[in-house]
Formats: sequence, C-alpha cells, structure tokens
Amino acid sequence: MFKSLVIPVYDVGDKMSDVRNVIIIGSGPAGYTAGLYAARAMLEPLMFAGYMSGGQLMLTSDIENFPGYPQGIGGPEMMMQLREQSERFGLEVQDRNVESVDLSQRPYKVSLEGEEYLTHSIIISTGAESIWLNAEGEAEQKGRGISTCATCDGAFFRDEEVLVIGGGDSACEEATFLTRFASKVTLVHRRDVFKASTIMYDRAANNEKIEIKTFRQIKKWLSDDNGLTGAVLEDPRDGSTEEISATGAFIAIGHKPITSFLGGQIETDEEGYIVHKKYTMTSVEGVFAAGDVVDTRYKQAITAAGMGCQAAMDAEKWLEEHVH
Ligand code: NDP
Repeated sequence: MFKSLVIPVYDVGDKMSDVRNVIIIGSGPAGYTAGLYAARAMLEPLMFAGYMSGGQLMLTSDIENFPGYPQGIGGPEMMMQLREQSERFGLEVQDRNVESVDLSQRPYKVSLEGEEYLTHSIIISTGAESIWLNAEGEAEQKGRGISTCATCDGAFFRDEEVLVIGGGDSACEEATFLTRFASKVTLVHRRDVFKASTIMYDRAANNEKIEIKTFRQIKKWLSDDNGLTGAVLEDPRDGSTEEISATGAFIAIGHKPITSFLGGQIETDEEGYIVHKKYTMTSVEGVFAAGDVVDTRYKQAITAAGMGCQAAMDAEKWLEEHVH
C-alpha cells in the first residue's frame, strides 16, 4: 500500500507569506482545468504555462470529440477559451518554462530564469512531446522538409507530395489535414493493423488524395541542396526496399511525456510517464499530476481535462489536511 514519503517541512521565516498554495506546471486541458478548479476553490493558483502555452492542442486543427461543441472547435481557440475561463476566476498565468523543481523539502521550490518560487503543492500537467524516428538523414532535414506538426507546417507543401509516418489517430488526422494543401499524401505504416480509431482511419482511407502503404518503414531520408527529396522505404518482413519521392514528411508515431525538469525526483514508469500513487498524487506528497504526462492509455483532451479537475480537488483536500 502507498505511504507517502515524509518530506521535511522547513520554516521559511519572512518568506512564508510568499509561499503559494499551488503551482500548476503546464497549460493544456489538464492544466487549465486544474487552474479553474483551484481558482474557484480560492487557492490563488499560479500557472507556469510554458513559452508556448496551450500544449499540443495548439497544434491541432479541429477538435470534434470534446462534448459541448457540436460543430467542433479549433485547438487554439479552445485553449484560449479555457485560459480565459480559468483567469476569470483568478488563475495567474505566466508564459514561462519551469527549469527545475526541488522536492527535497517543503515548501517546494520551483525555479526558472534565476527566480525561485515556493509552494505548498504542485500540479504537473506538462503533457507530452512528439517522438522522432531518428532515421538516417533525419537530423539534417528537420525543419527543411521533415516535421512533426502538420498544422504548423502543412501549408508549406502546397501542390507537393508528402509522406506521413505512423498508424495511429495522429497519423490519420495529419494525413487527412494535409490533403488541403498537398497534391498527394502517402501514409506509411510499419504494419497492416492500425491503432487509429475507425472513424479516423476510414476518413484517411476514403480520401482519394491519400495512398496507404503498409509494411513499410523509413530506412533512410533522401535529400539534395534544396531539402528533402524522398525516402528509402523498407519492408520489415523481408528487408526489401523501394524509393519514394516527397518534398515533405510528417512523423506521427506518438509522444513521450515531458518530465526531464523533475530531475528524477518523482517516480515514473519505464517510459517516463509519472505514476499516480493515491488518486492523482505522485510518489511525493503534495505533488499531483494530470493529463498526458501520466496517461499511457486514453490521451484525449476530455480525459486530460477530467484529470486536471481531479488533481485540483486532490490538492485542495491535501492542503486542507496538511497545511491550513
Ligand atoms: P499512437 O501511439 O496511437 O500511434 C503511434 C503509431 O506510430 C502506431 O501506429 C505505431 O505503430 C507507430 N510507430 C511507433 N513507433 C514507430 C516507429 N519507430 N516506426 C514506425 N512507426 C512507429 O500515437 P498517436 O500520436 O497517433 O495517438 C496518441 C493518442 O492521442 C491516442 O490515444 C489517440 O487516440 C489520441 N489522438 C486523438 C485524436 C483525436 O481524437 N482527434 C487525434 C490524435 C491523437 P504500431 O501500431 O506498429 O505500434
């Protein structure tokens, strides 16, 4: 059974009045929902939203599966509305990146740009970042044709041929989105079974601008002085290869949780996802986590928002029992 670590509590003297109740790190749907609930609970939460606040949904065109938006809503628009809603109740948001935290004693320290903030509790909602393939030639072509964000870079490939790599919802969604610009999109997947939901897969499969190539993986990227020209595809079953031409490529093979700033002070699983110990509490008491930084299974905006609500409620209860 989980027993939280006993963290030494220090008297910080004059600075005690500066100690925040809760600092929220990260600003996707989990962070903003945590901020909304914590603000409404009068905890005067402070959020470090990151330089690019809003998280992955800022890179998403249309969100069709968040209840309450019958016509769908743009990702950035939803994030702006979530921010506005939580700020209305008193969430303080700073668009800065946290560099490190010190969880060895309470109150905890959150450091950024030479400044240190003290806090009784923390909610981590830093989400996840795209995984790269790291195939031969990839590093040189990043930003010169190879991208992990169709919403950001798709428009550069008007009337050109592009590749999308992956077999999940992201790959199918990006492939479909890219048909707005590209003359042809080839979806390259290493198996013939797709992780994508049926609706996303069908939408891609039924789009006449999209060709799906299964049992293919990128062996090597091809390029010339102007940037990407294509790739060598390999069949993982027998090692046979073929060349394909493309001036753009979008890697959509999943995400990894953003936890490096924690310096290993919080327990994670072998893939780096933060582990919940009791409700949304992590292995360190008073430190909670919500959203994609924890979620190995659902990874939806709505589940992240739900978990953000839970984390704020858990933090409120914990503060009541341990601090106030
Ligand atoms: P997924 O983990 O679902 O899919 C990753 C895909 O990439 C898999 O098909 C996997 O292949 C493939 N892959 C992984 N590593 C490699 C590699 N080294 N080489 C080649 N292929 C590789 O990630 P997604 O980002 O697509 O989705 C993550 C989550 O976000 C999901 O829960 C999804 O439902 C959700 N999502 C929801 C959306 C929506 O509802 N609008 C939109 C986008 C994402 P294999 O199948 O062989 O493992």
